[in-house]
Amino acid sequence: YYEGVDFIRQLYELPFASIGLDFTSNDTNLAQLEKIGYFPENKNLICGIIDGRNPRRANIENKAKLISRLLKIKGITKENLLLSNSCPLIHLPVTIDLETNISAAAKNIMSFAQEKLYELYLLKEYLSGSKKKAKEWSKAIKRQKQYPIPKNIKLSSFKEKDYLRRRKLQDKFLNLPLFPTTTIGSFPQDSQLRKMRYNFASKTIPAAVYEEFIRNKIKELIRLQEEIGLDMLVHGEFERTDMVEFFAQRLKGFTTTEKGWVISYGTRVYRPPIIYKEIKRKKPLTVKEITYAQSLTNKPVKGIFTGPVTMIAWSYNLRGPNLPKIAFEIAKALNKESKELAKKGIKAIQIDEPAIKEYMPLKKKKQNFYFRWAISAFNRAIKLDPKIQIHTHMCYSEFSDIIKWILKLNFDVITIEAARAGGDILDAFRRNVFLRQMGPGVWDIHSKYPANTATIKTIIKKAIATLGKNKIWLNPDCGLKTRNWEEVIISLKLIVKEARLLRKKYGS
Ligand code: GLN
Ligand code: ZN
Repeated sequence: YYEGVDFIRQLYELPFASIGLDFTSNDTNLAQLEKIGYFPENKNLICGIIDGRNPRRANIENKAKLISRLLKIKGITKENLLLSNSCPLIHLPVTIDLETNISAAAKNIMSFAQEKLYELYLLKEYLSGSKKKAKEWSKAIKRQKQYPIPKNIKLSSFKEKDYLRRRKLQDKFLNLPLFPTTTIGSFPQDSQLRKMRYNFASKTIPAAVYEEFIRNKIKELIRLQEEIGLDMLVHGEFERTDMVEFFAQRLKGFTTTEKGWVISYGTRVYRPPIIYKEIKRKKPLTVKEITYAQSLTNKPVKGIFTGPVTMIAWSYNLRGPNLPKIAFEIAKALNKESKELAKKGIKAIQIDEPAIKEYMPLKKKKQNFYFRWAISAFNRAIKLDPKIQIHTHMCYSEFSDIIKWILKLNFDVITIEAARAGGDILDAFRRNVFLRQMGPGVWDIHSKYPANTATIKTIIKKAIATLGKNKIWLNPDCGLKTRNWEEVIISLKLIVKEARLLRKKYGS
């Protein structure tokens, strides 16, 4: 499941009684079967026909049409064709019945795990002649507008040498020291913060009290960062529960669930937001918090958002396969937000795209299309005055294999995860012309240890050997949301200390 199989004919030879194929994620399985022209009549075909991963409601009539095409293939009969979900239902919340905030219009085009099983039942009923309930069920989804998927996406990226010109403008505007220090955005979301958030969500404290609490957190953090001596500051992301849900709750076109928990990895759970109509920015997303933070300091504060690919990858999408259209809508919203921030004095914007590799592995023939829309969306989001410095952050960044695409993203500074592998990721940049700046993570925040001098020195030494002394930032590997204050303070102080030593050694 999750893709078409390129070797169906070979599967026939294997000693299995049943073969399960996914008929929702691709149209190649059906085409292959029709081309081969037969199916072994002594085996079962488990037809994964109800999408187990996406909560978009099934159009039962279309599903029935697909079944009738399968039944035309020699060897496939009503006896050996089984109807099934396309993949495990682990990707979906249990039932839509528990949701009270989702509008009827959205609910009418949705189904979670329990409703998926009901769809299987409806399909069977439909195929045996009782069509009424199925038609009723699919009414709204049939009316949903479908957009054609663009064939060619024009990708315009800066040339590598353009970054030198941008750098000059930005250096003047930002006035940063050599080896600048920064963080990725979030700071500890401690038990006090979680308690306040819970009280706010359950309405036991008024919104004004919660907002005041967040403002105080921002104020304390700005003071702390100045005390530690960091160069580019952040506001701390205290107002964000989750880097996708937070934006989804503020953008039009998304809806969010109350009880729609699913596993992200291990025992971690999250609630994916749902994309269900055109995405628009109706009000500012982050302006209040970020401009407040900037008003408290003379050092630059980064405006930080989650990028279009990550917004889509970590949400459900009810709008069909036209991902480029959705990505461009998000990009437009983020661009509006960035422009407003720039107008209000913010000098650097950071787009987080931790999910850029999540669409991989991808069949070779699909990679070009994917990266074209993904990168175009990013570049549209940060189309700004060149003196605004563009940062991007990518964790899980084992991306040596896709480096040529990463370099088409129009960022000026990239912060990446590097500490765990001792800076191996730098080799990918060595093999390419790279005239921009990089912050290889010098503290592995996923480990239980604070930063240490030896790791910082190893990584920075390697970075200097690869990029030269004037393109390097010092920062942790990722956001600090899950760490505690004590280790954060110790580690950031150490990072700043190392940066100061480097400045002494290499001159200004
Ligand atoms: N800005 C986010 C944070 O600091 C980035 C998180 C991520 O890359 N996963 O938490
Ligand atoms: Zn990260």
